[in-house]
Amino acid sequence: MTDKKITQIYTQEQIKNRVNEMADEIEKTFAADRPLLAICVIKGAVLFYADLVKAIRNRDVRFGFVAASSYYNAEGGLMRSTGTVNMKYSSVDESEIVGAEVLIIEDIIDTGRTLKALKAYFYEKGAKTVKIATLLNKPDCRVVDDIDPDFNAFTLVGNPYIIGYGLDNAQQYRNLDGVYKIN
Ligand code: 5GP
Repeated sequence: MTDKKITQIYTQEQIKNRVNEMADEIEKTFAADRPLLAICVIKGAVLFYADLVKAIRNRDVRFGFVAASSYYNAEGGLMRSTGTVNMKYSSVDESEIVGAEVLIIEDIIDTGRTLKALKAYFYEKGAKTVKIATLLNKPDCRVVDDIDPDFNAFTLVGNPYIIGYGLDNAQQYRNLDGVYKIN
C-alpha cells in the first residue's frame, strides 16, 4: 500500500441504494419487449456494472465489454486526461449492435471525451439508441459540452481524484467496496 491519505465519500450502503434507484429508472426508460445491451467499460466500471445489471430484474440484459483509453499523464502522481480516445478492446460483435438498445455503463464522466467517443462508436455501428449510466459525474471538468449521463449515481463538485469500487490509482485500490477520494 502507498502512504496516500484517502477519505471515504460514499459507503457501500449509499452506493447500493443509488444503484437500485437507477435500475428502476432504467427499467422505466427502456422498452420491456426488447433486449438491453449493457456495455461495461473496463476496468473501472466492473463493480458498478455487476451491481447495476443485477438490479435490473425485468429486462433481458445482454452483456458486452469494451476498453477505451483516453489517457494519461501523471499530474502530482495522479492520472489526468490528455484528450485522445481509442478503442482498445471490444467483446461485442457488430451484428449484436445493429438495431440494439445500448446502455453504456461507465465509472466516471470527467472531460466527457471517452463517453462521447463510445456513444458515437455504437451509433456508427448501427445501434438504435445509446444511453449512458455513470457512477460519478464531474460536471465541472467537462471539456465536451454535448454529452451528459442519462443516469448517474453521484455528482461531484470540482475535480477530486476518486478511487475504490472499481476505480484505481496506478491499478491500486480497485477492490475497496466504497468510493474514496485521495486527499
Ligand atoms: P473522460 O474521457 O470523461 O475525461 O474520462 C473518463 C475516464 O477518466 C474514466 O473512465 C476514468 O477512467 C478516468 N477518470 C476520471 N476521473 C477519475 C478519477 O477521479 N479517478 C480515477 N481513478 N479515474 C478517473
